[in-house]
Amino acid sequence: MFTCDKDRVKDKIETFAQFGATGRGGITRFSLSKEAVQARNEFVKRMKALKIKVLTDDLANMYATVPGSDPALPGIVMASHLDSVRNGGNYDGVLGVIAAMEVAETIVGDKIPHRRPFTAMVWTNEEGSLYPPAMMSSGILCGKFEKEAMLLSKSPGGKTFGEALSGSGFAGDQTNRFNSRDYAMMLELHIEQGPVLEAGKKQIGVVEGVLGMVNYRISTRGQADHAGTTPMSYRKDALLAAADAIKYLHTELDKLDKNLVYTTGELVVHPCVHTVIPDQVEFSLDARHRDPEVIKQVVKVIKSLPKKLDKCTVTSREAWARKTVFFNRDLVTIVEKKAKALGYSSMKIYSGAGHDAQYVAELIPTAMIFVPSKGGHSHCEEEFTSVDEAWRGINVALNTVLAADADFVPGKRR
Ligand SMILES: [Zn+2]
Repeated sequence: MFTCDKDRVKDKIETFAQFGATGRGGITRFSLSKEAVQARNEFVKRMKALKIKVLTDDLANMYATVPGSDPALPGIVMASHLDSVRNGGNYDGVLGVIAAMEVAETIVGDKIPHRRPFTAMVWTNEEGSLYPPAMMSSGILCGKFEKEAMLLSKSPGGKTFGEALSGSGFAGDQTNRFNSRDYAMMLELHIEQGPVLEAGKKQIGVVEGVLGMVNYRISTRGQADHAGTTPMSYRKDALLAAADAIKYLHTELDKLDKNLVYTTGELVVHPCVHTVIPDQVEFSLDARHRDPEVIKQVVKVIKSLPKKLDKCTVTSREAWARKTVFFNRDLVTIVEKKAKALGYSSMKIYSGAGHDAQYVAELIPTAMIFVPSKGGHSHCEEEFTSVDEAWRGINVALNTVLAADADFVPGKRR
């Protein structure tokens, strides 16, 4: 078994945590911002120190490639993102980039023989914090989004993604783009962003896929009236109806599978004035489960909402949905075997969050490795994974890359 350098991992975690530091233990590092450019420069500096080429494509995705002994073979890529949400943590995304860098540094430093080129890659704008949607550039490269439309995505300040891209100094040539001819497989290491590994006292999450989900918008319509002059029995309060609808959904959805997760995170109240009875309310319902049958049952529950609640009308519509993504079974098995061979405890797990890897999985064999998140916290300044936990995850990644380099036969098998 090969292992990487724990001190070097620690140094990278501490160094990258400075770029966009909030002073309260976290970072705000929006894609293509000044802070993100600092993090990108650090990536380039460290990869160039290995005397390897660093390329960028037209979306500013970055590729640092260690050549293999057989340059004709398609490469192995490890990738994640350097951007964060507002007041995010020091691990989401960046730990996957640190892992990719560390694998490159170990392969070069320890002169580990390998046949295929190995690329440490950075995806641009995974979070979509300033320029929605999330997973923008992997989405473009994997045919989910049109580049031209994405260039027009606007930040709240009015700047477009296209303007940020040309101002960043990192936009390169389209011919450098990730593609399914030049790359045989992708691996992404990421923090779990949930409490399951910690609660189960497991060191490594062997990720089998990304949960399918539906996102519904549910609306209630009543009548706006004066808050002081309208007796209670006369009211058609759309917010009361929404509250009852949410309660109904919770009661019914709790009867479904115990692994189902669902959330109402958004509530829009009209006119949202304290002296007016609300006449229109819209709220979101996000539900996730790996089994499409359970998702179908969720939709059935939503459709079973009473058409009238508290004298208000209730309607629903699907905003969007995605199918469960299953990672490549052979790669998942290698990850599991390597964790075991290194003596680490592991468990199979599905990702409830979206990752660039889920788009890439539709093009080439892909897998992910999770490491524990303290208290399950993520997308916040409390986000924490210890150096030891990160190091173990990177060791699994390193050995997975080398095992795949030796005998993985790329194919479409899932
Ligand atoms: Zn992430």
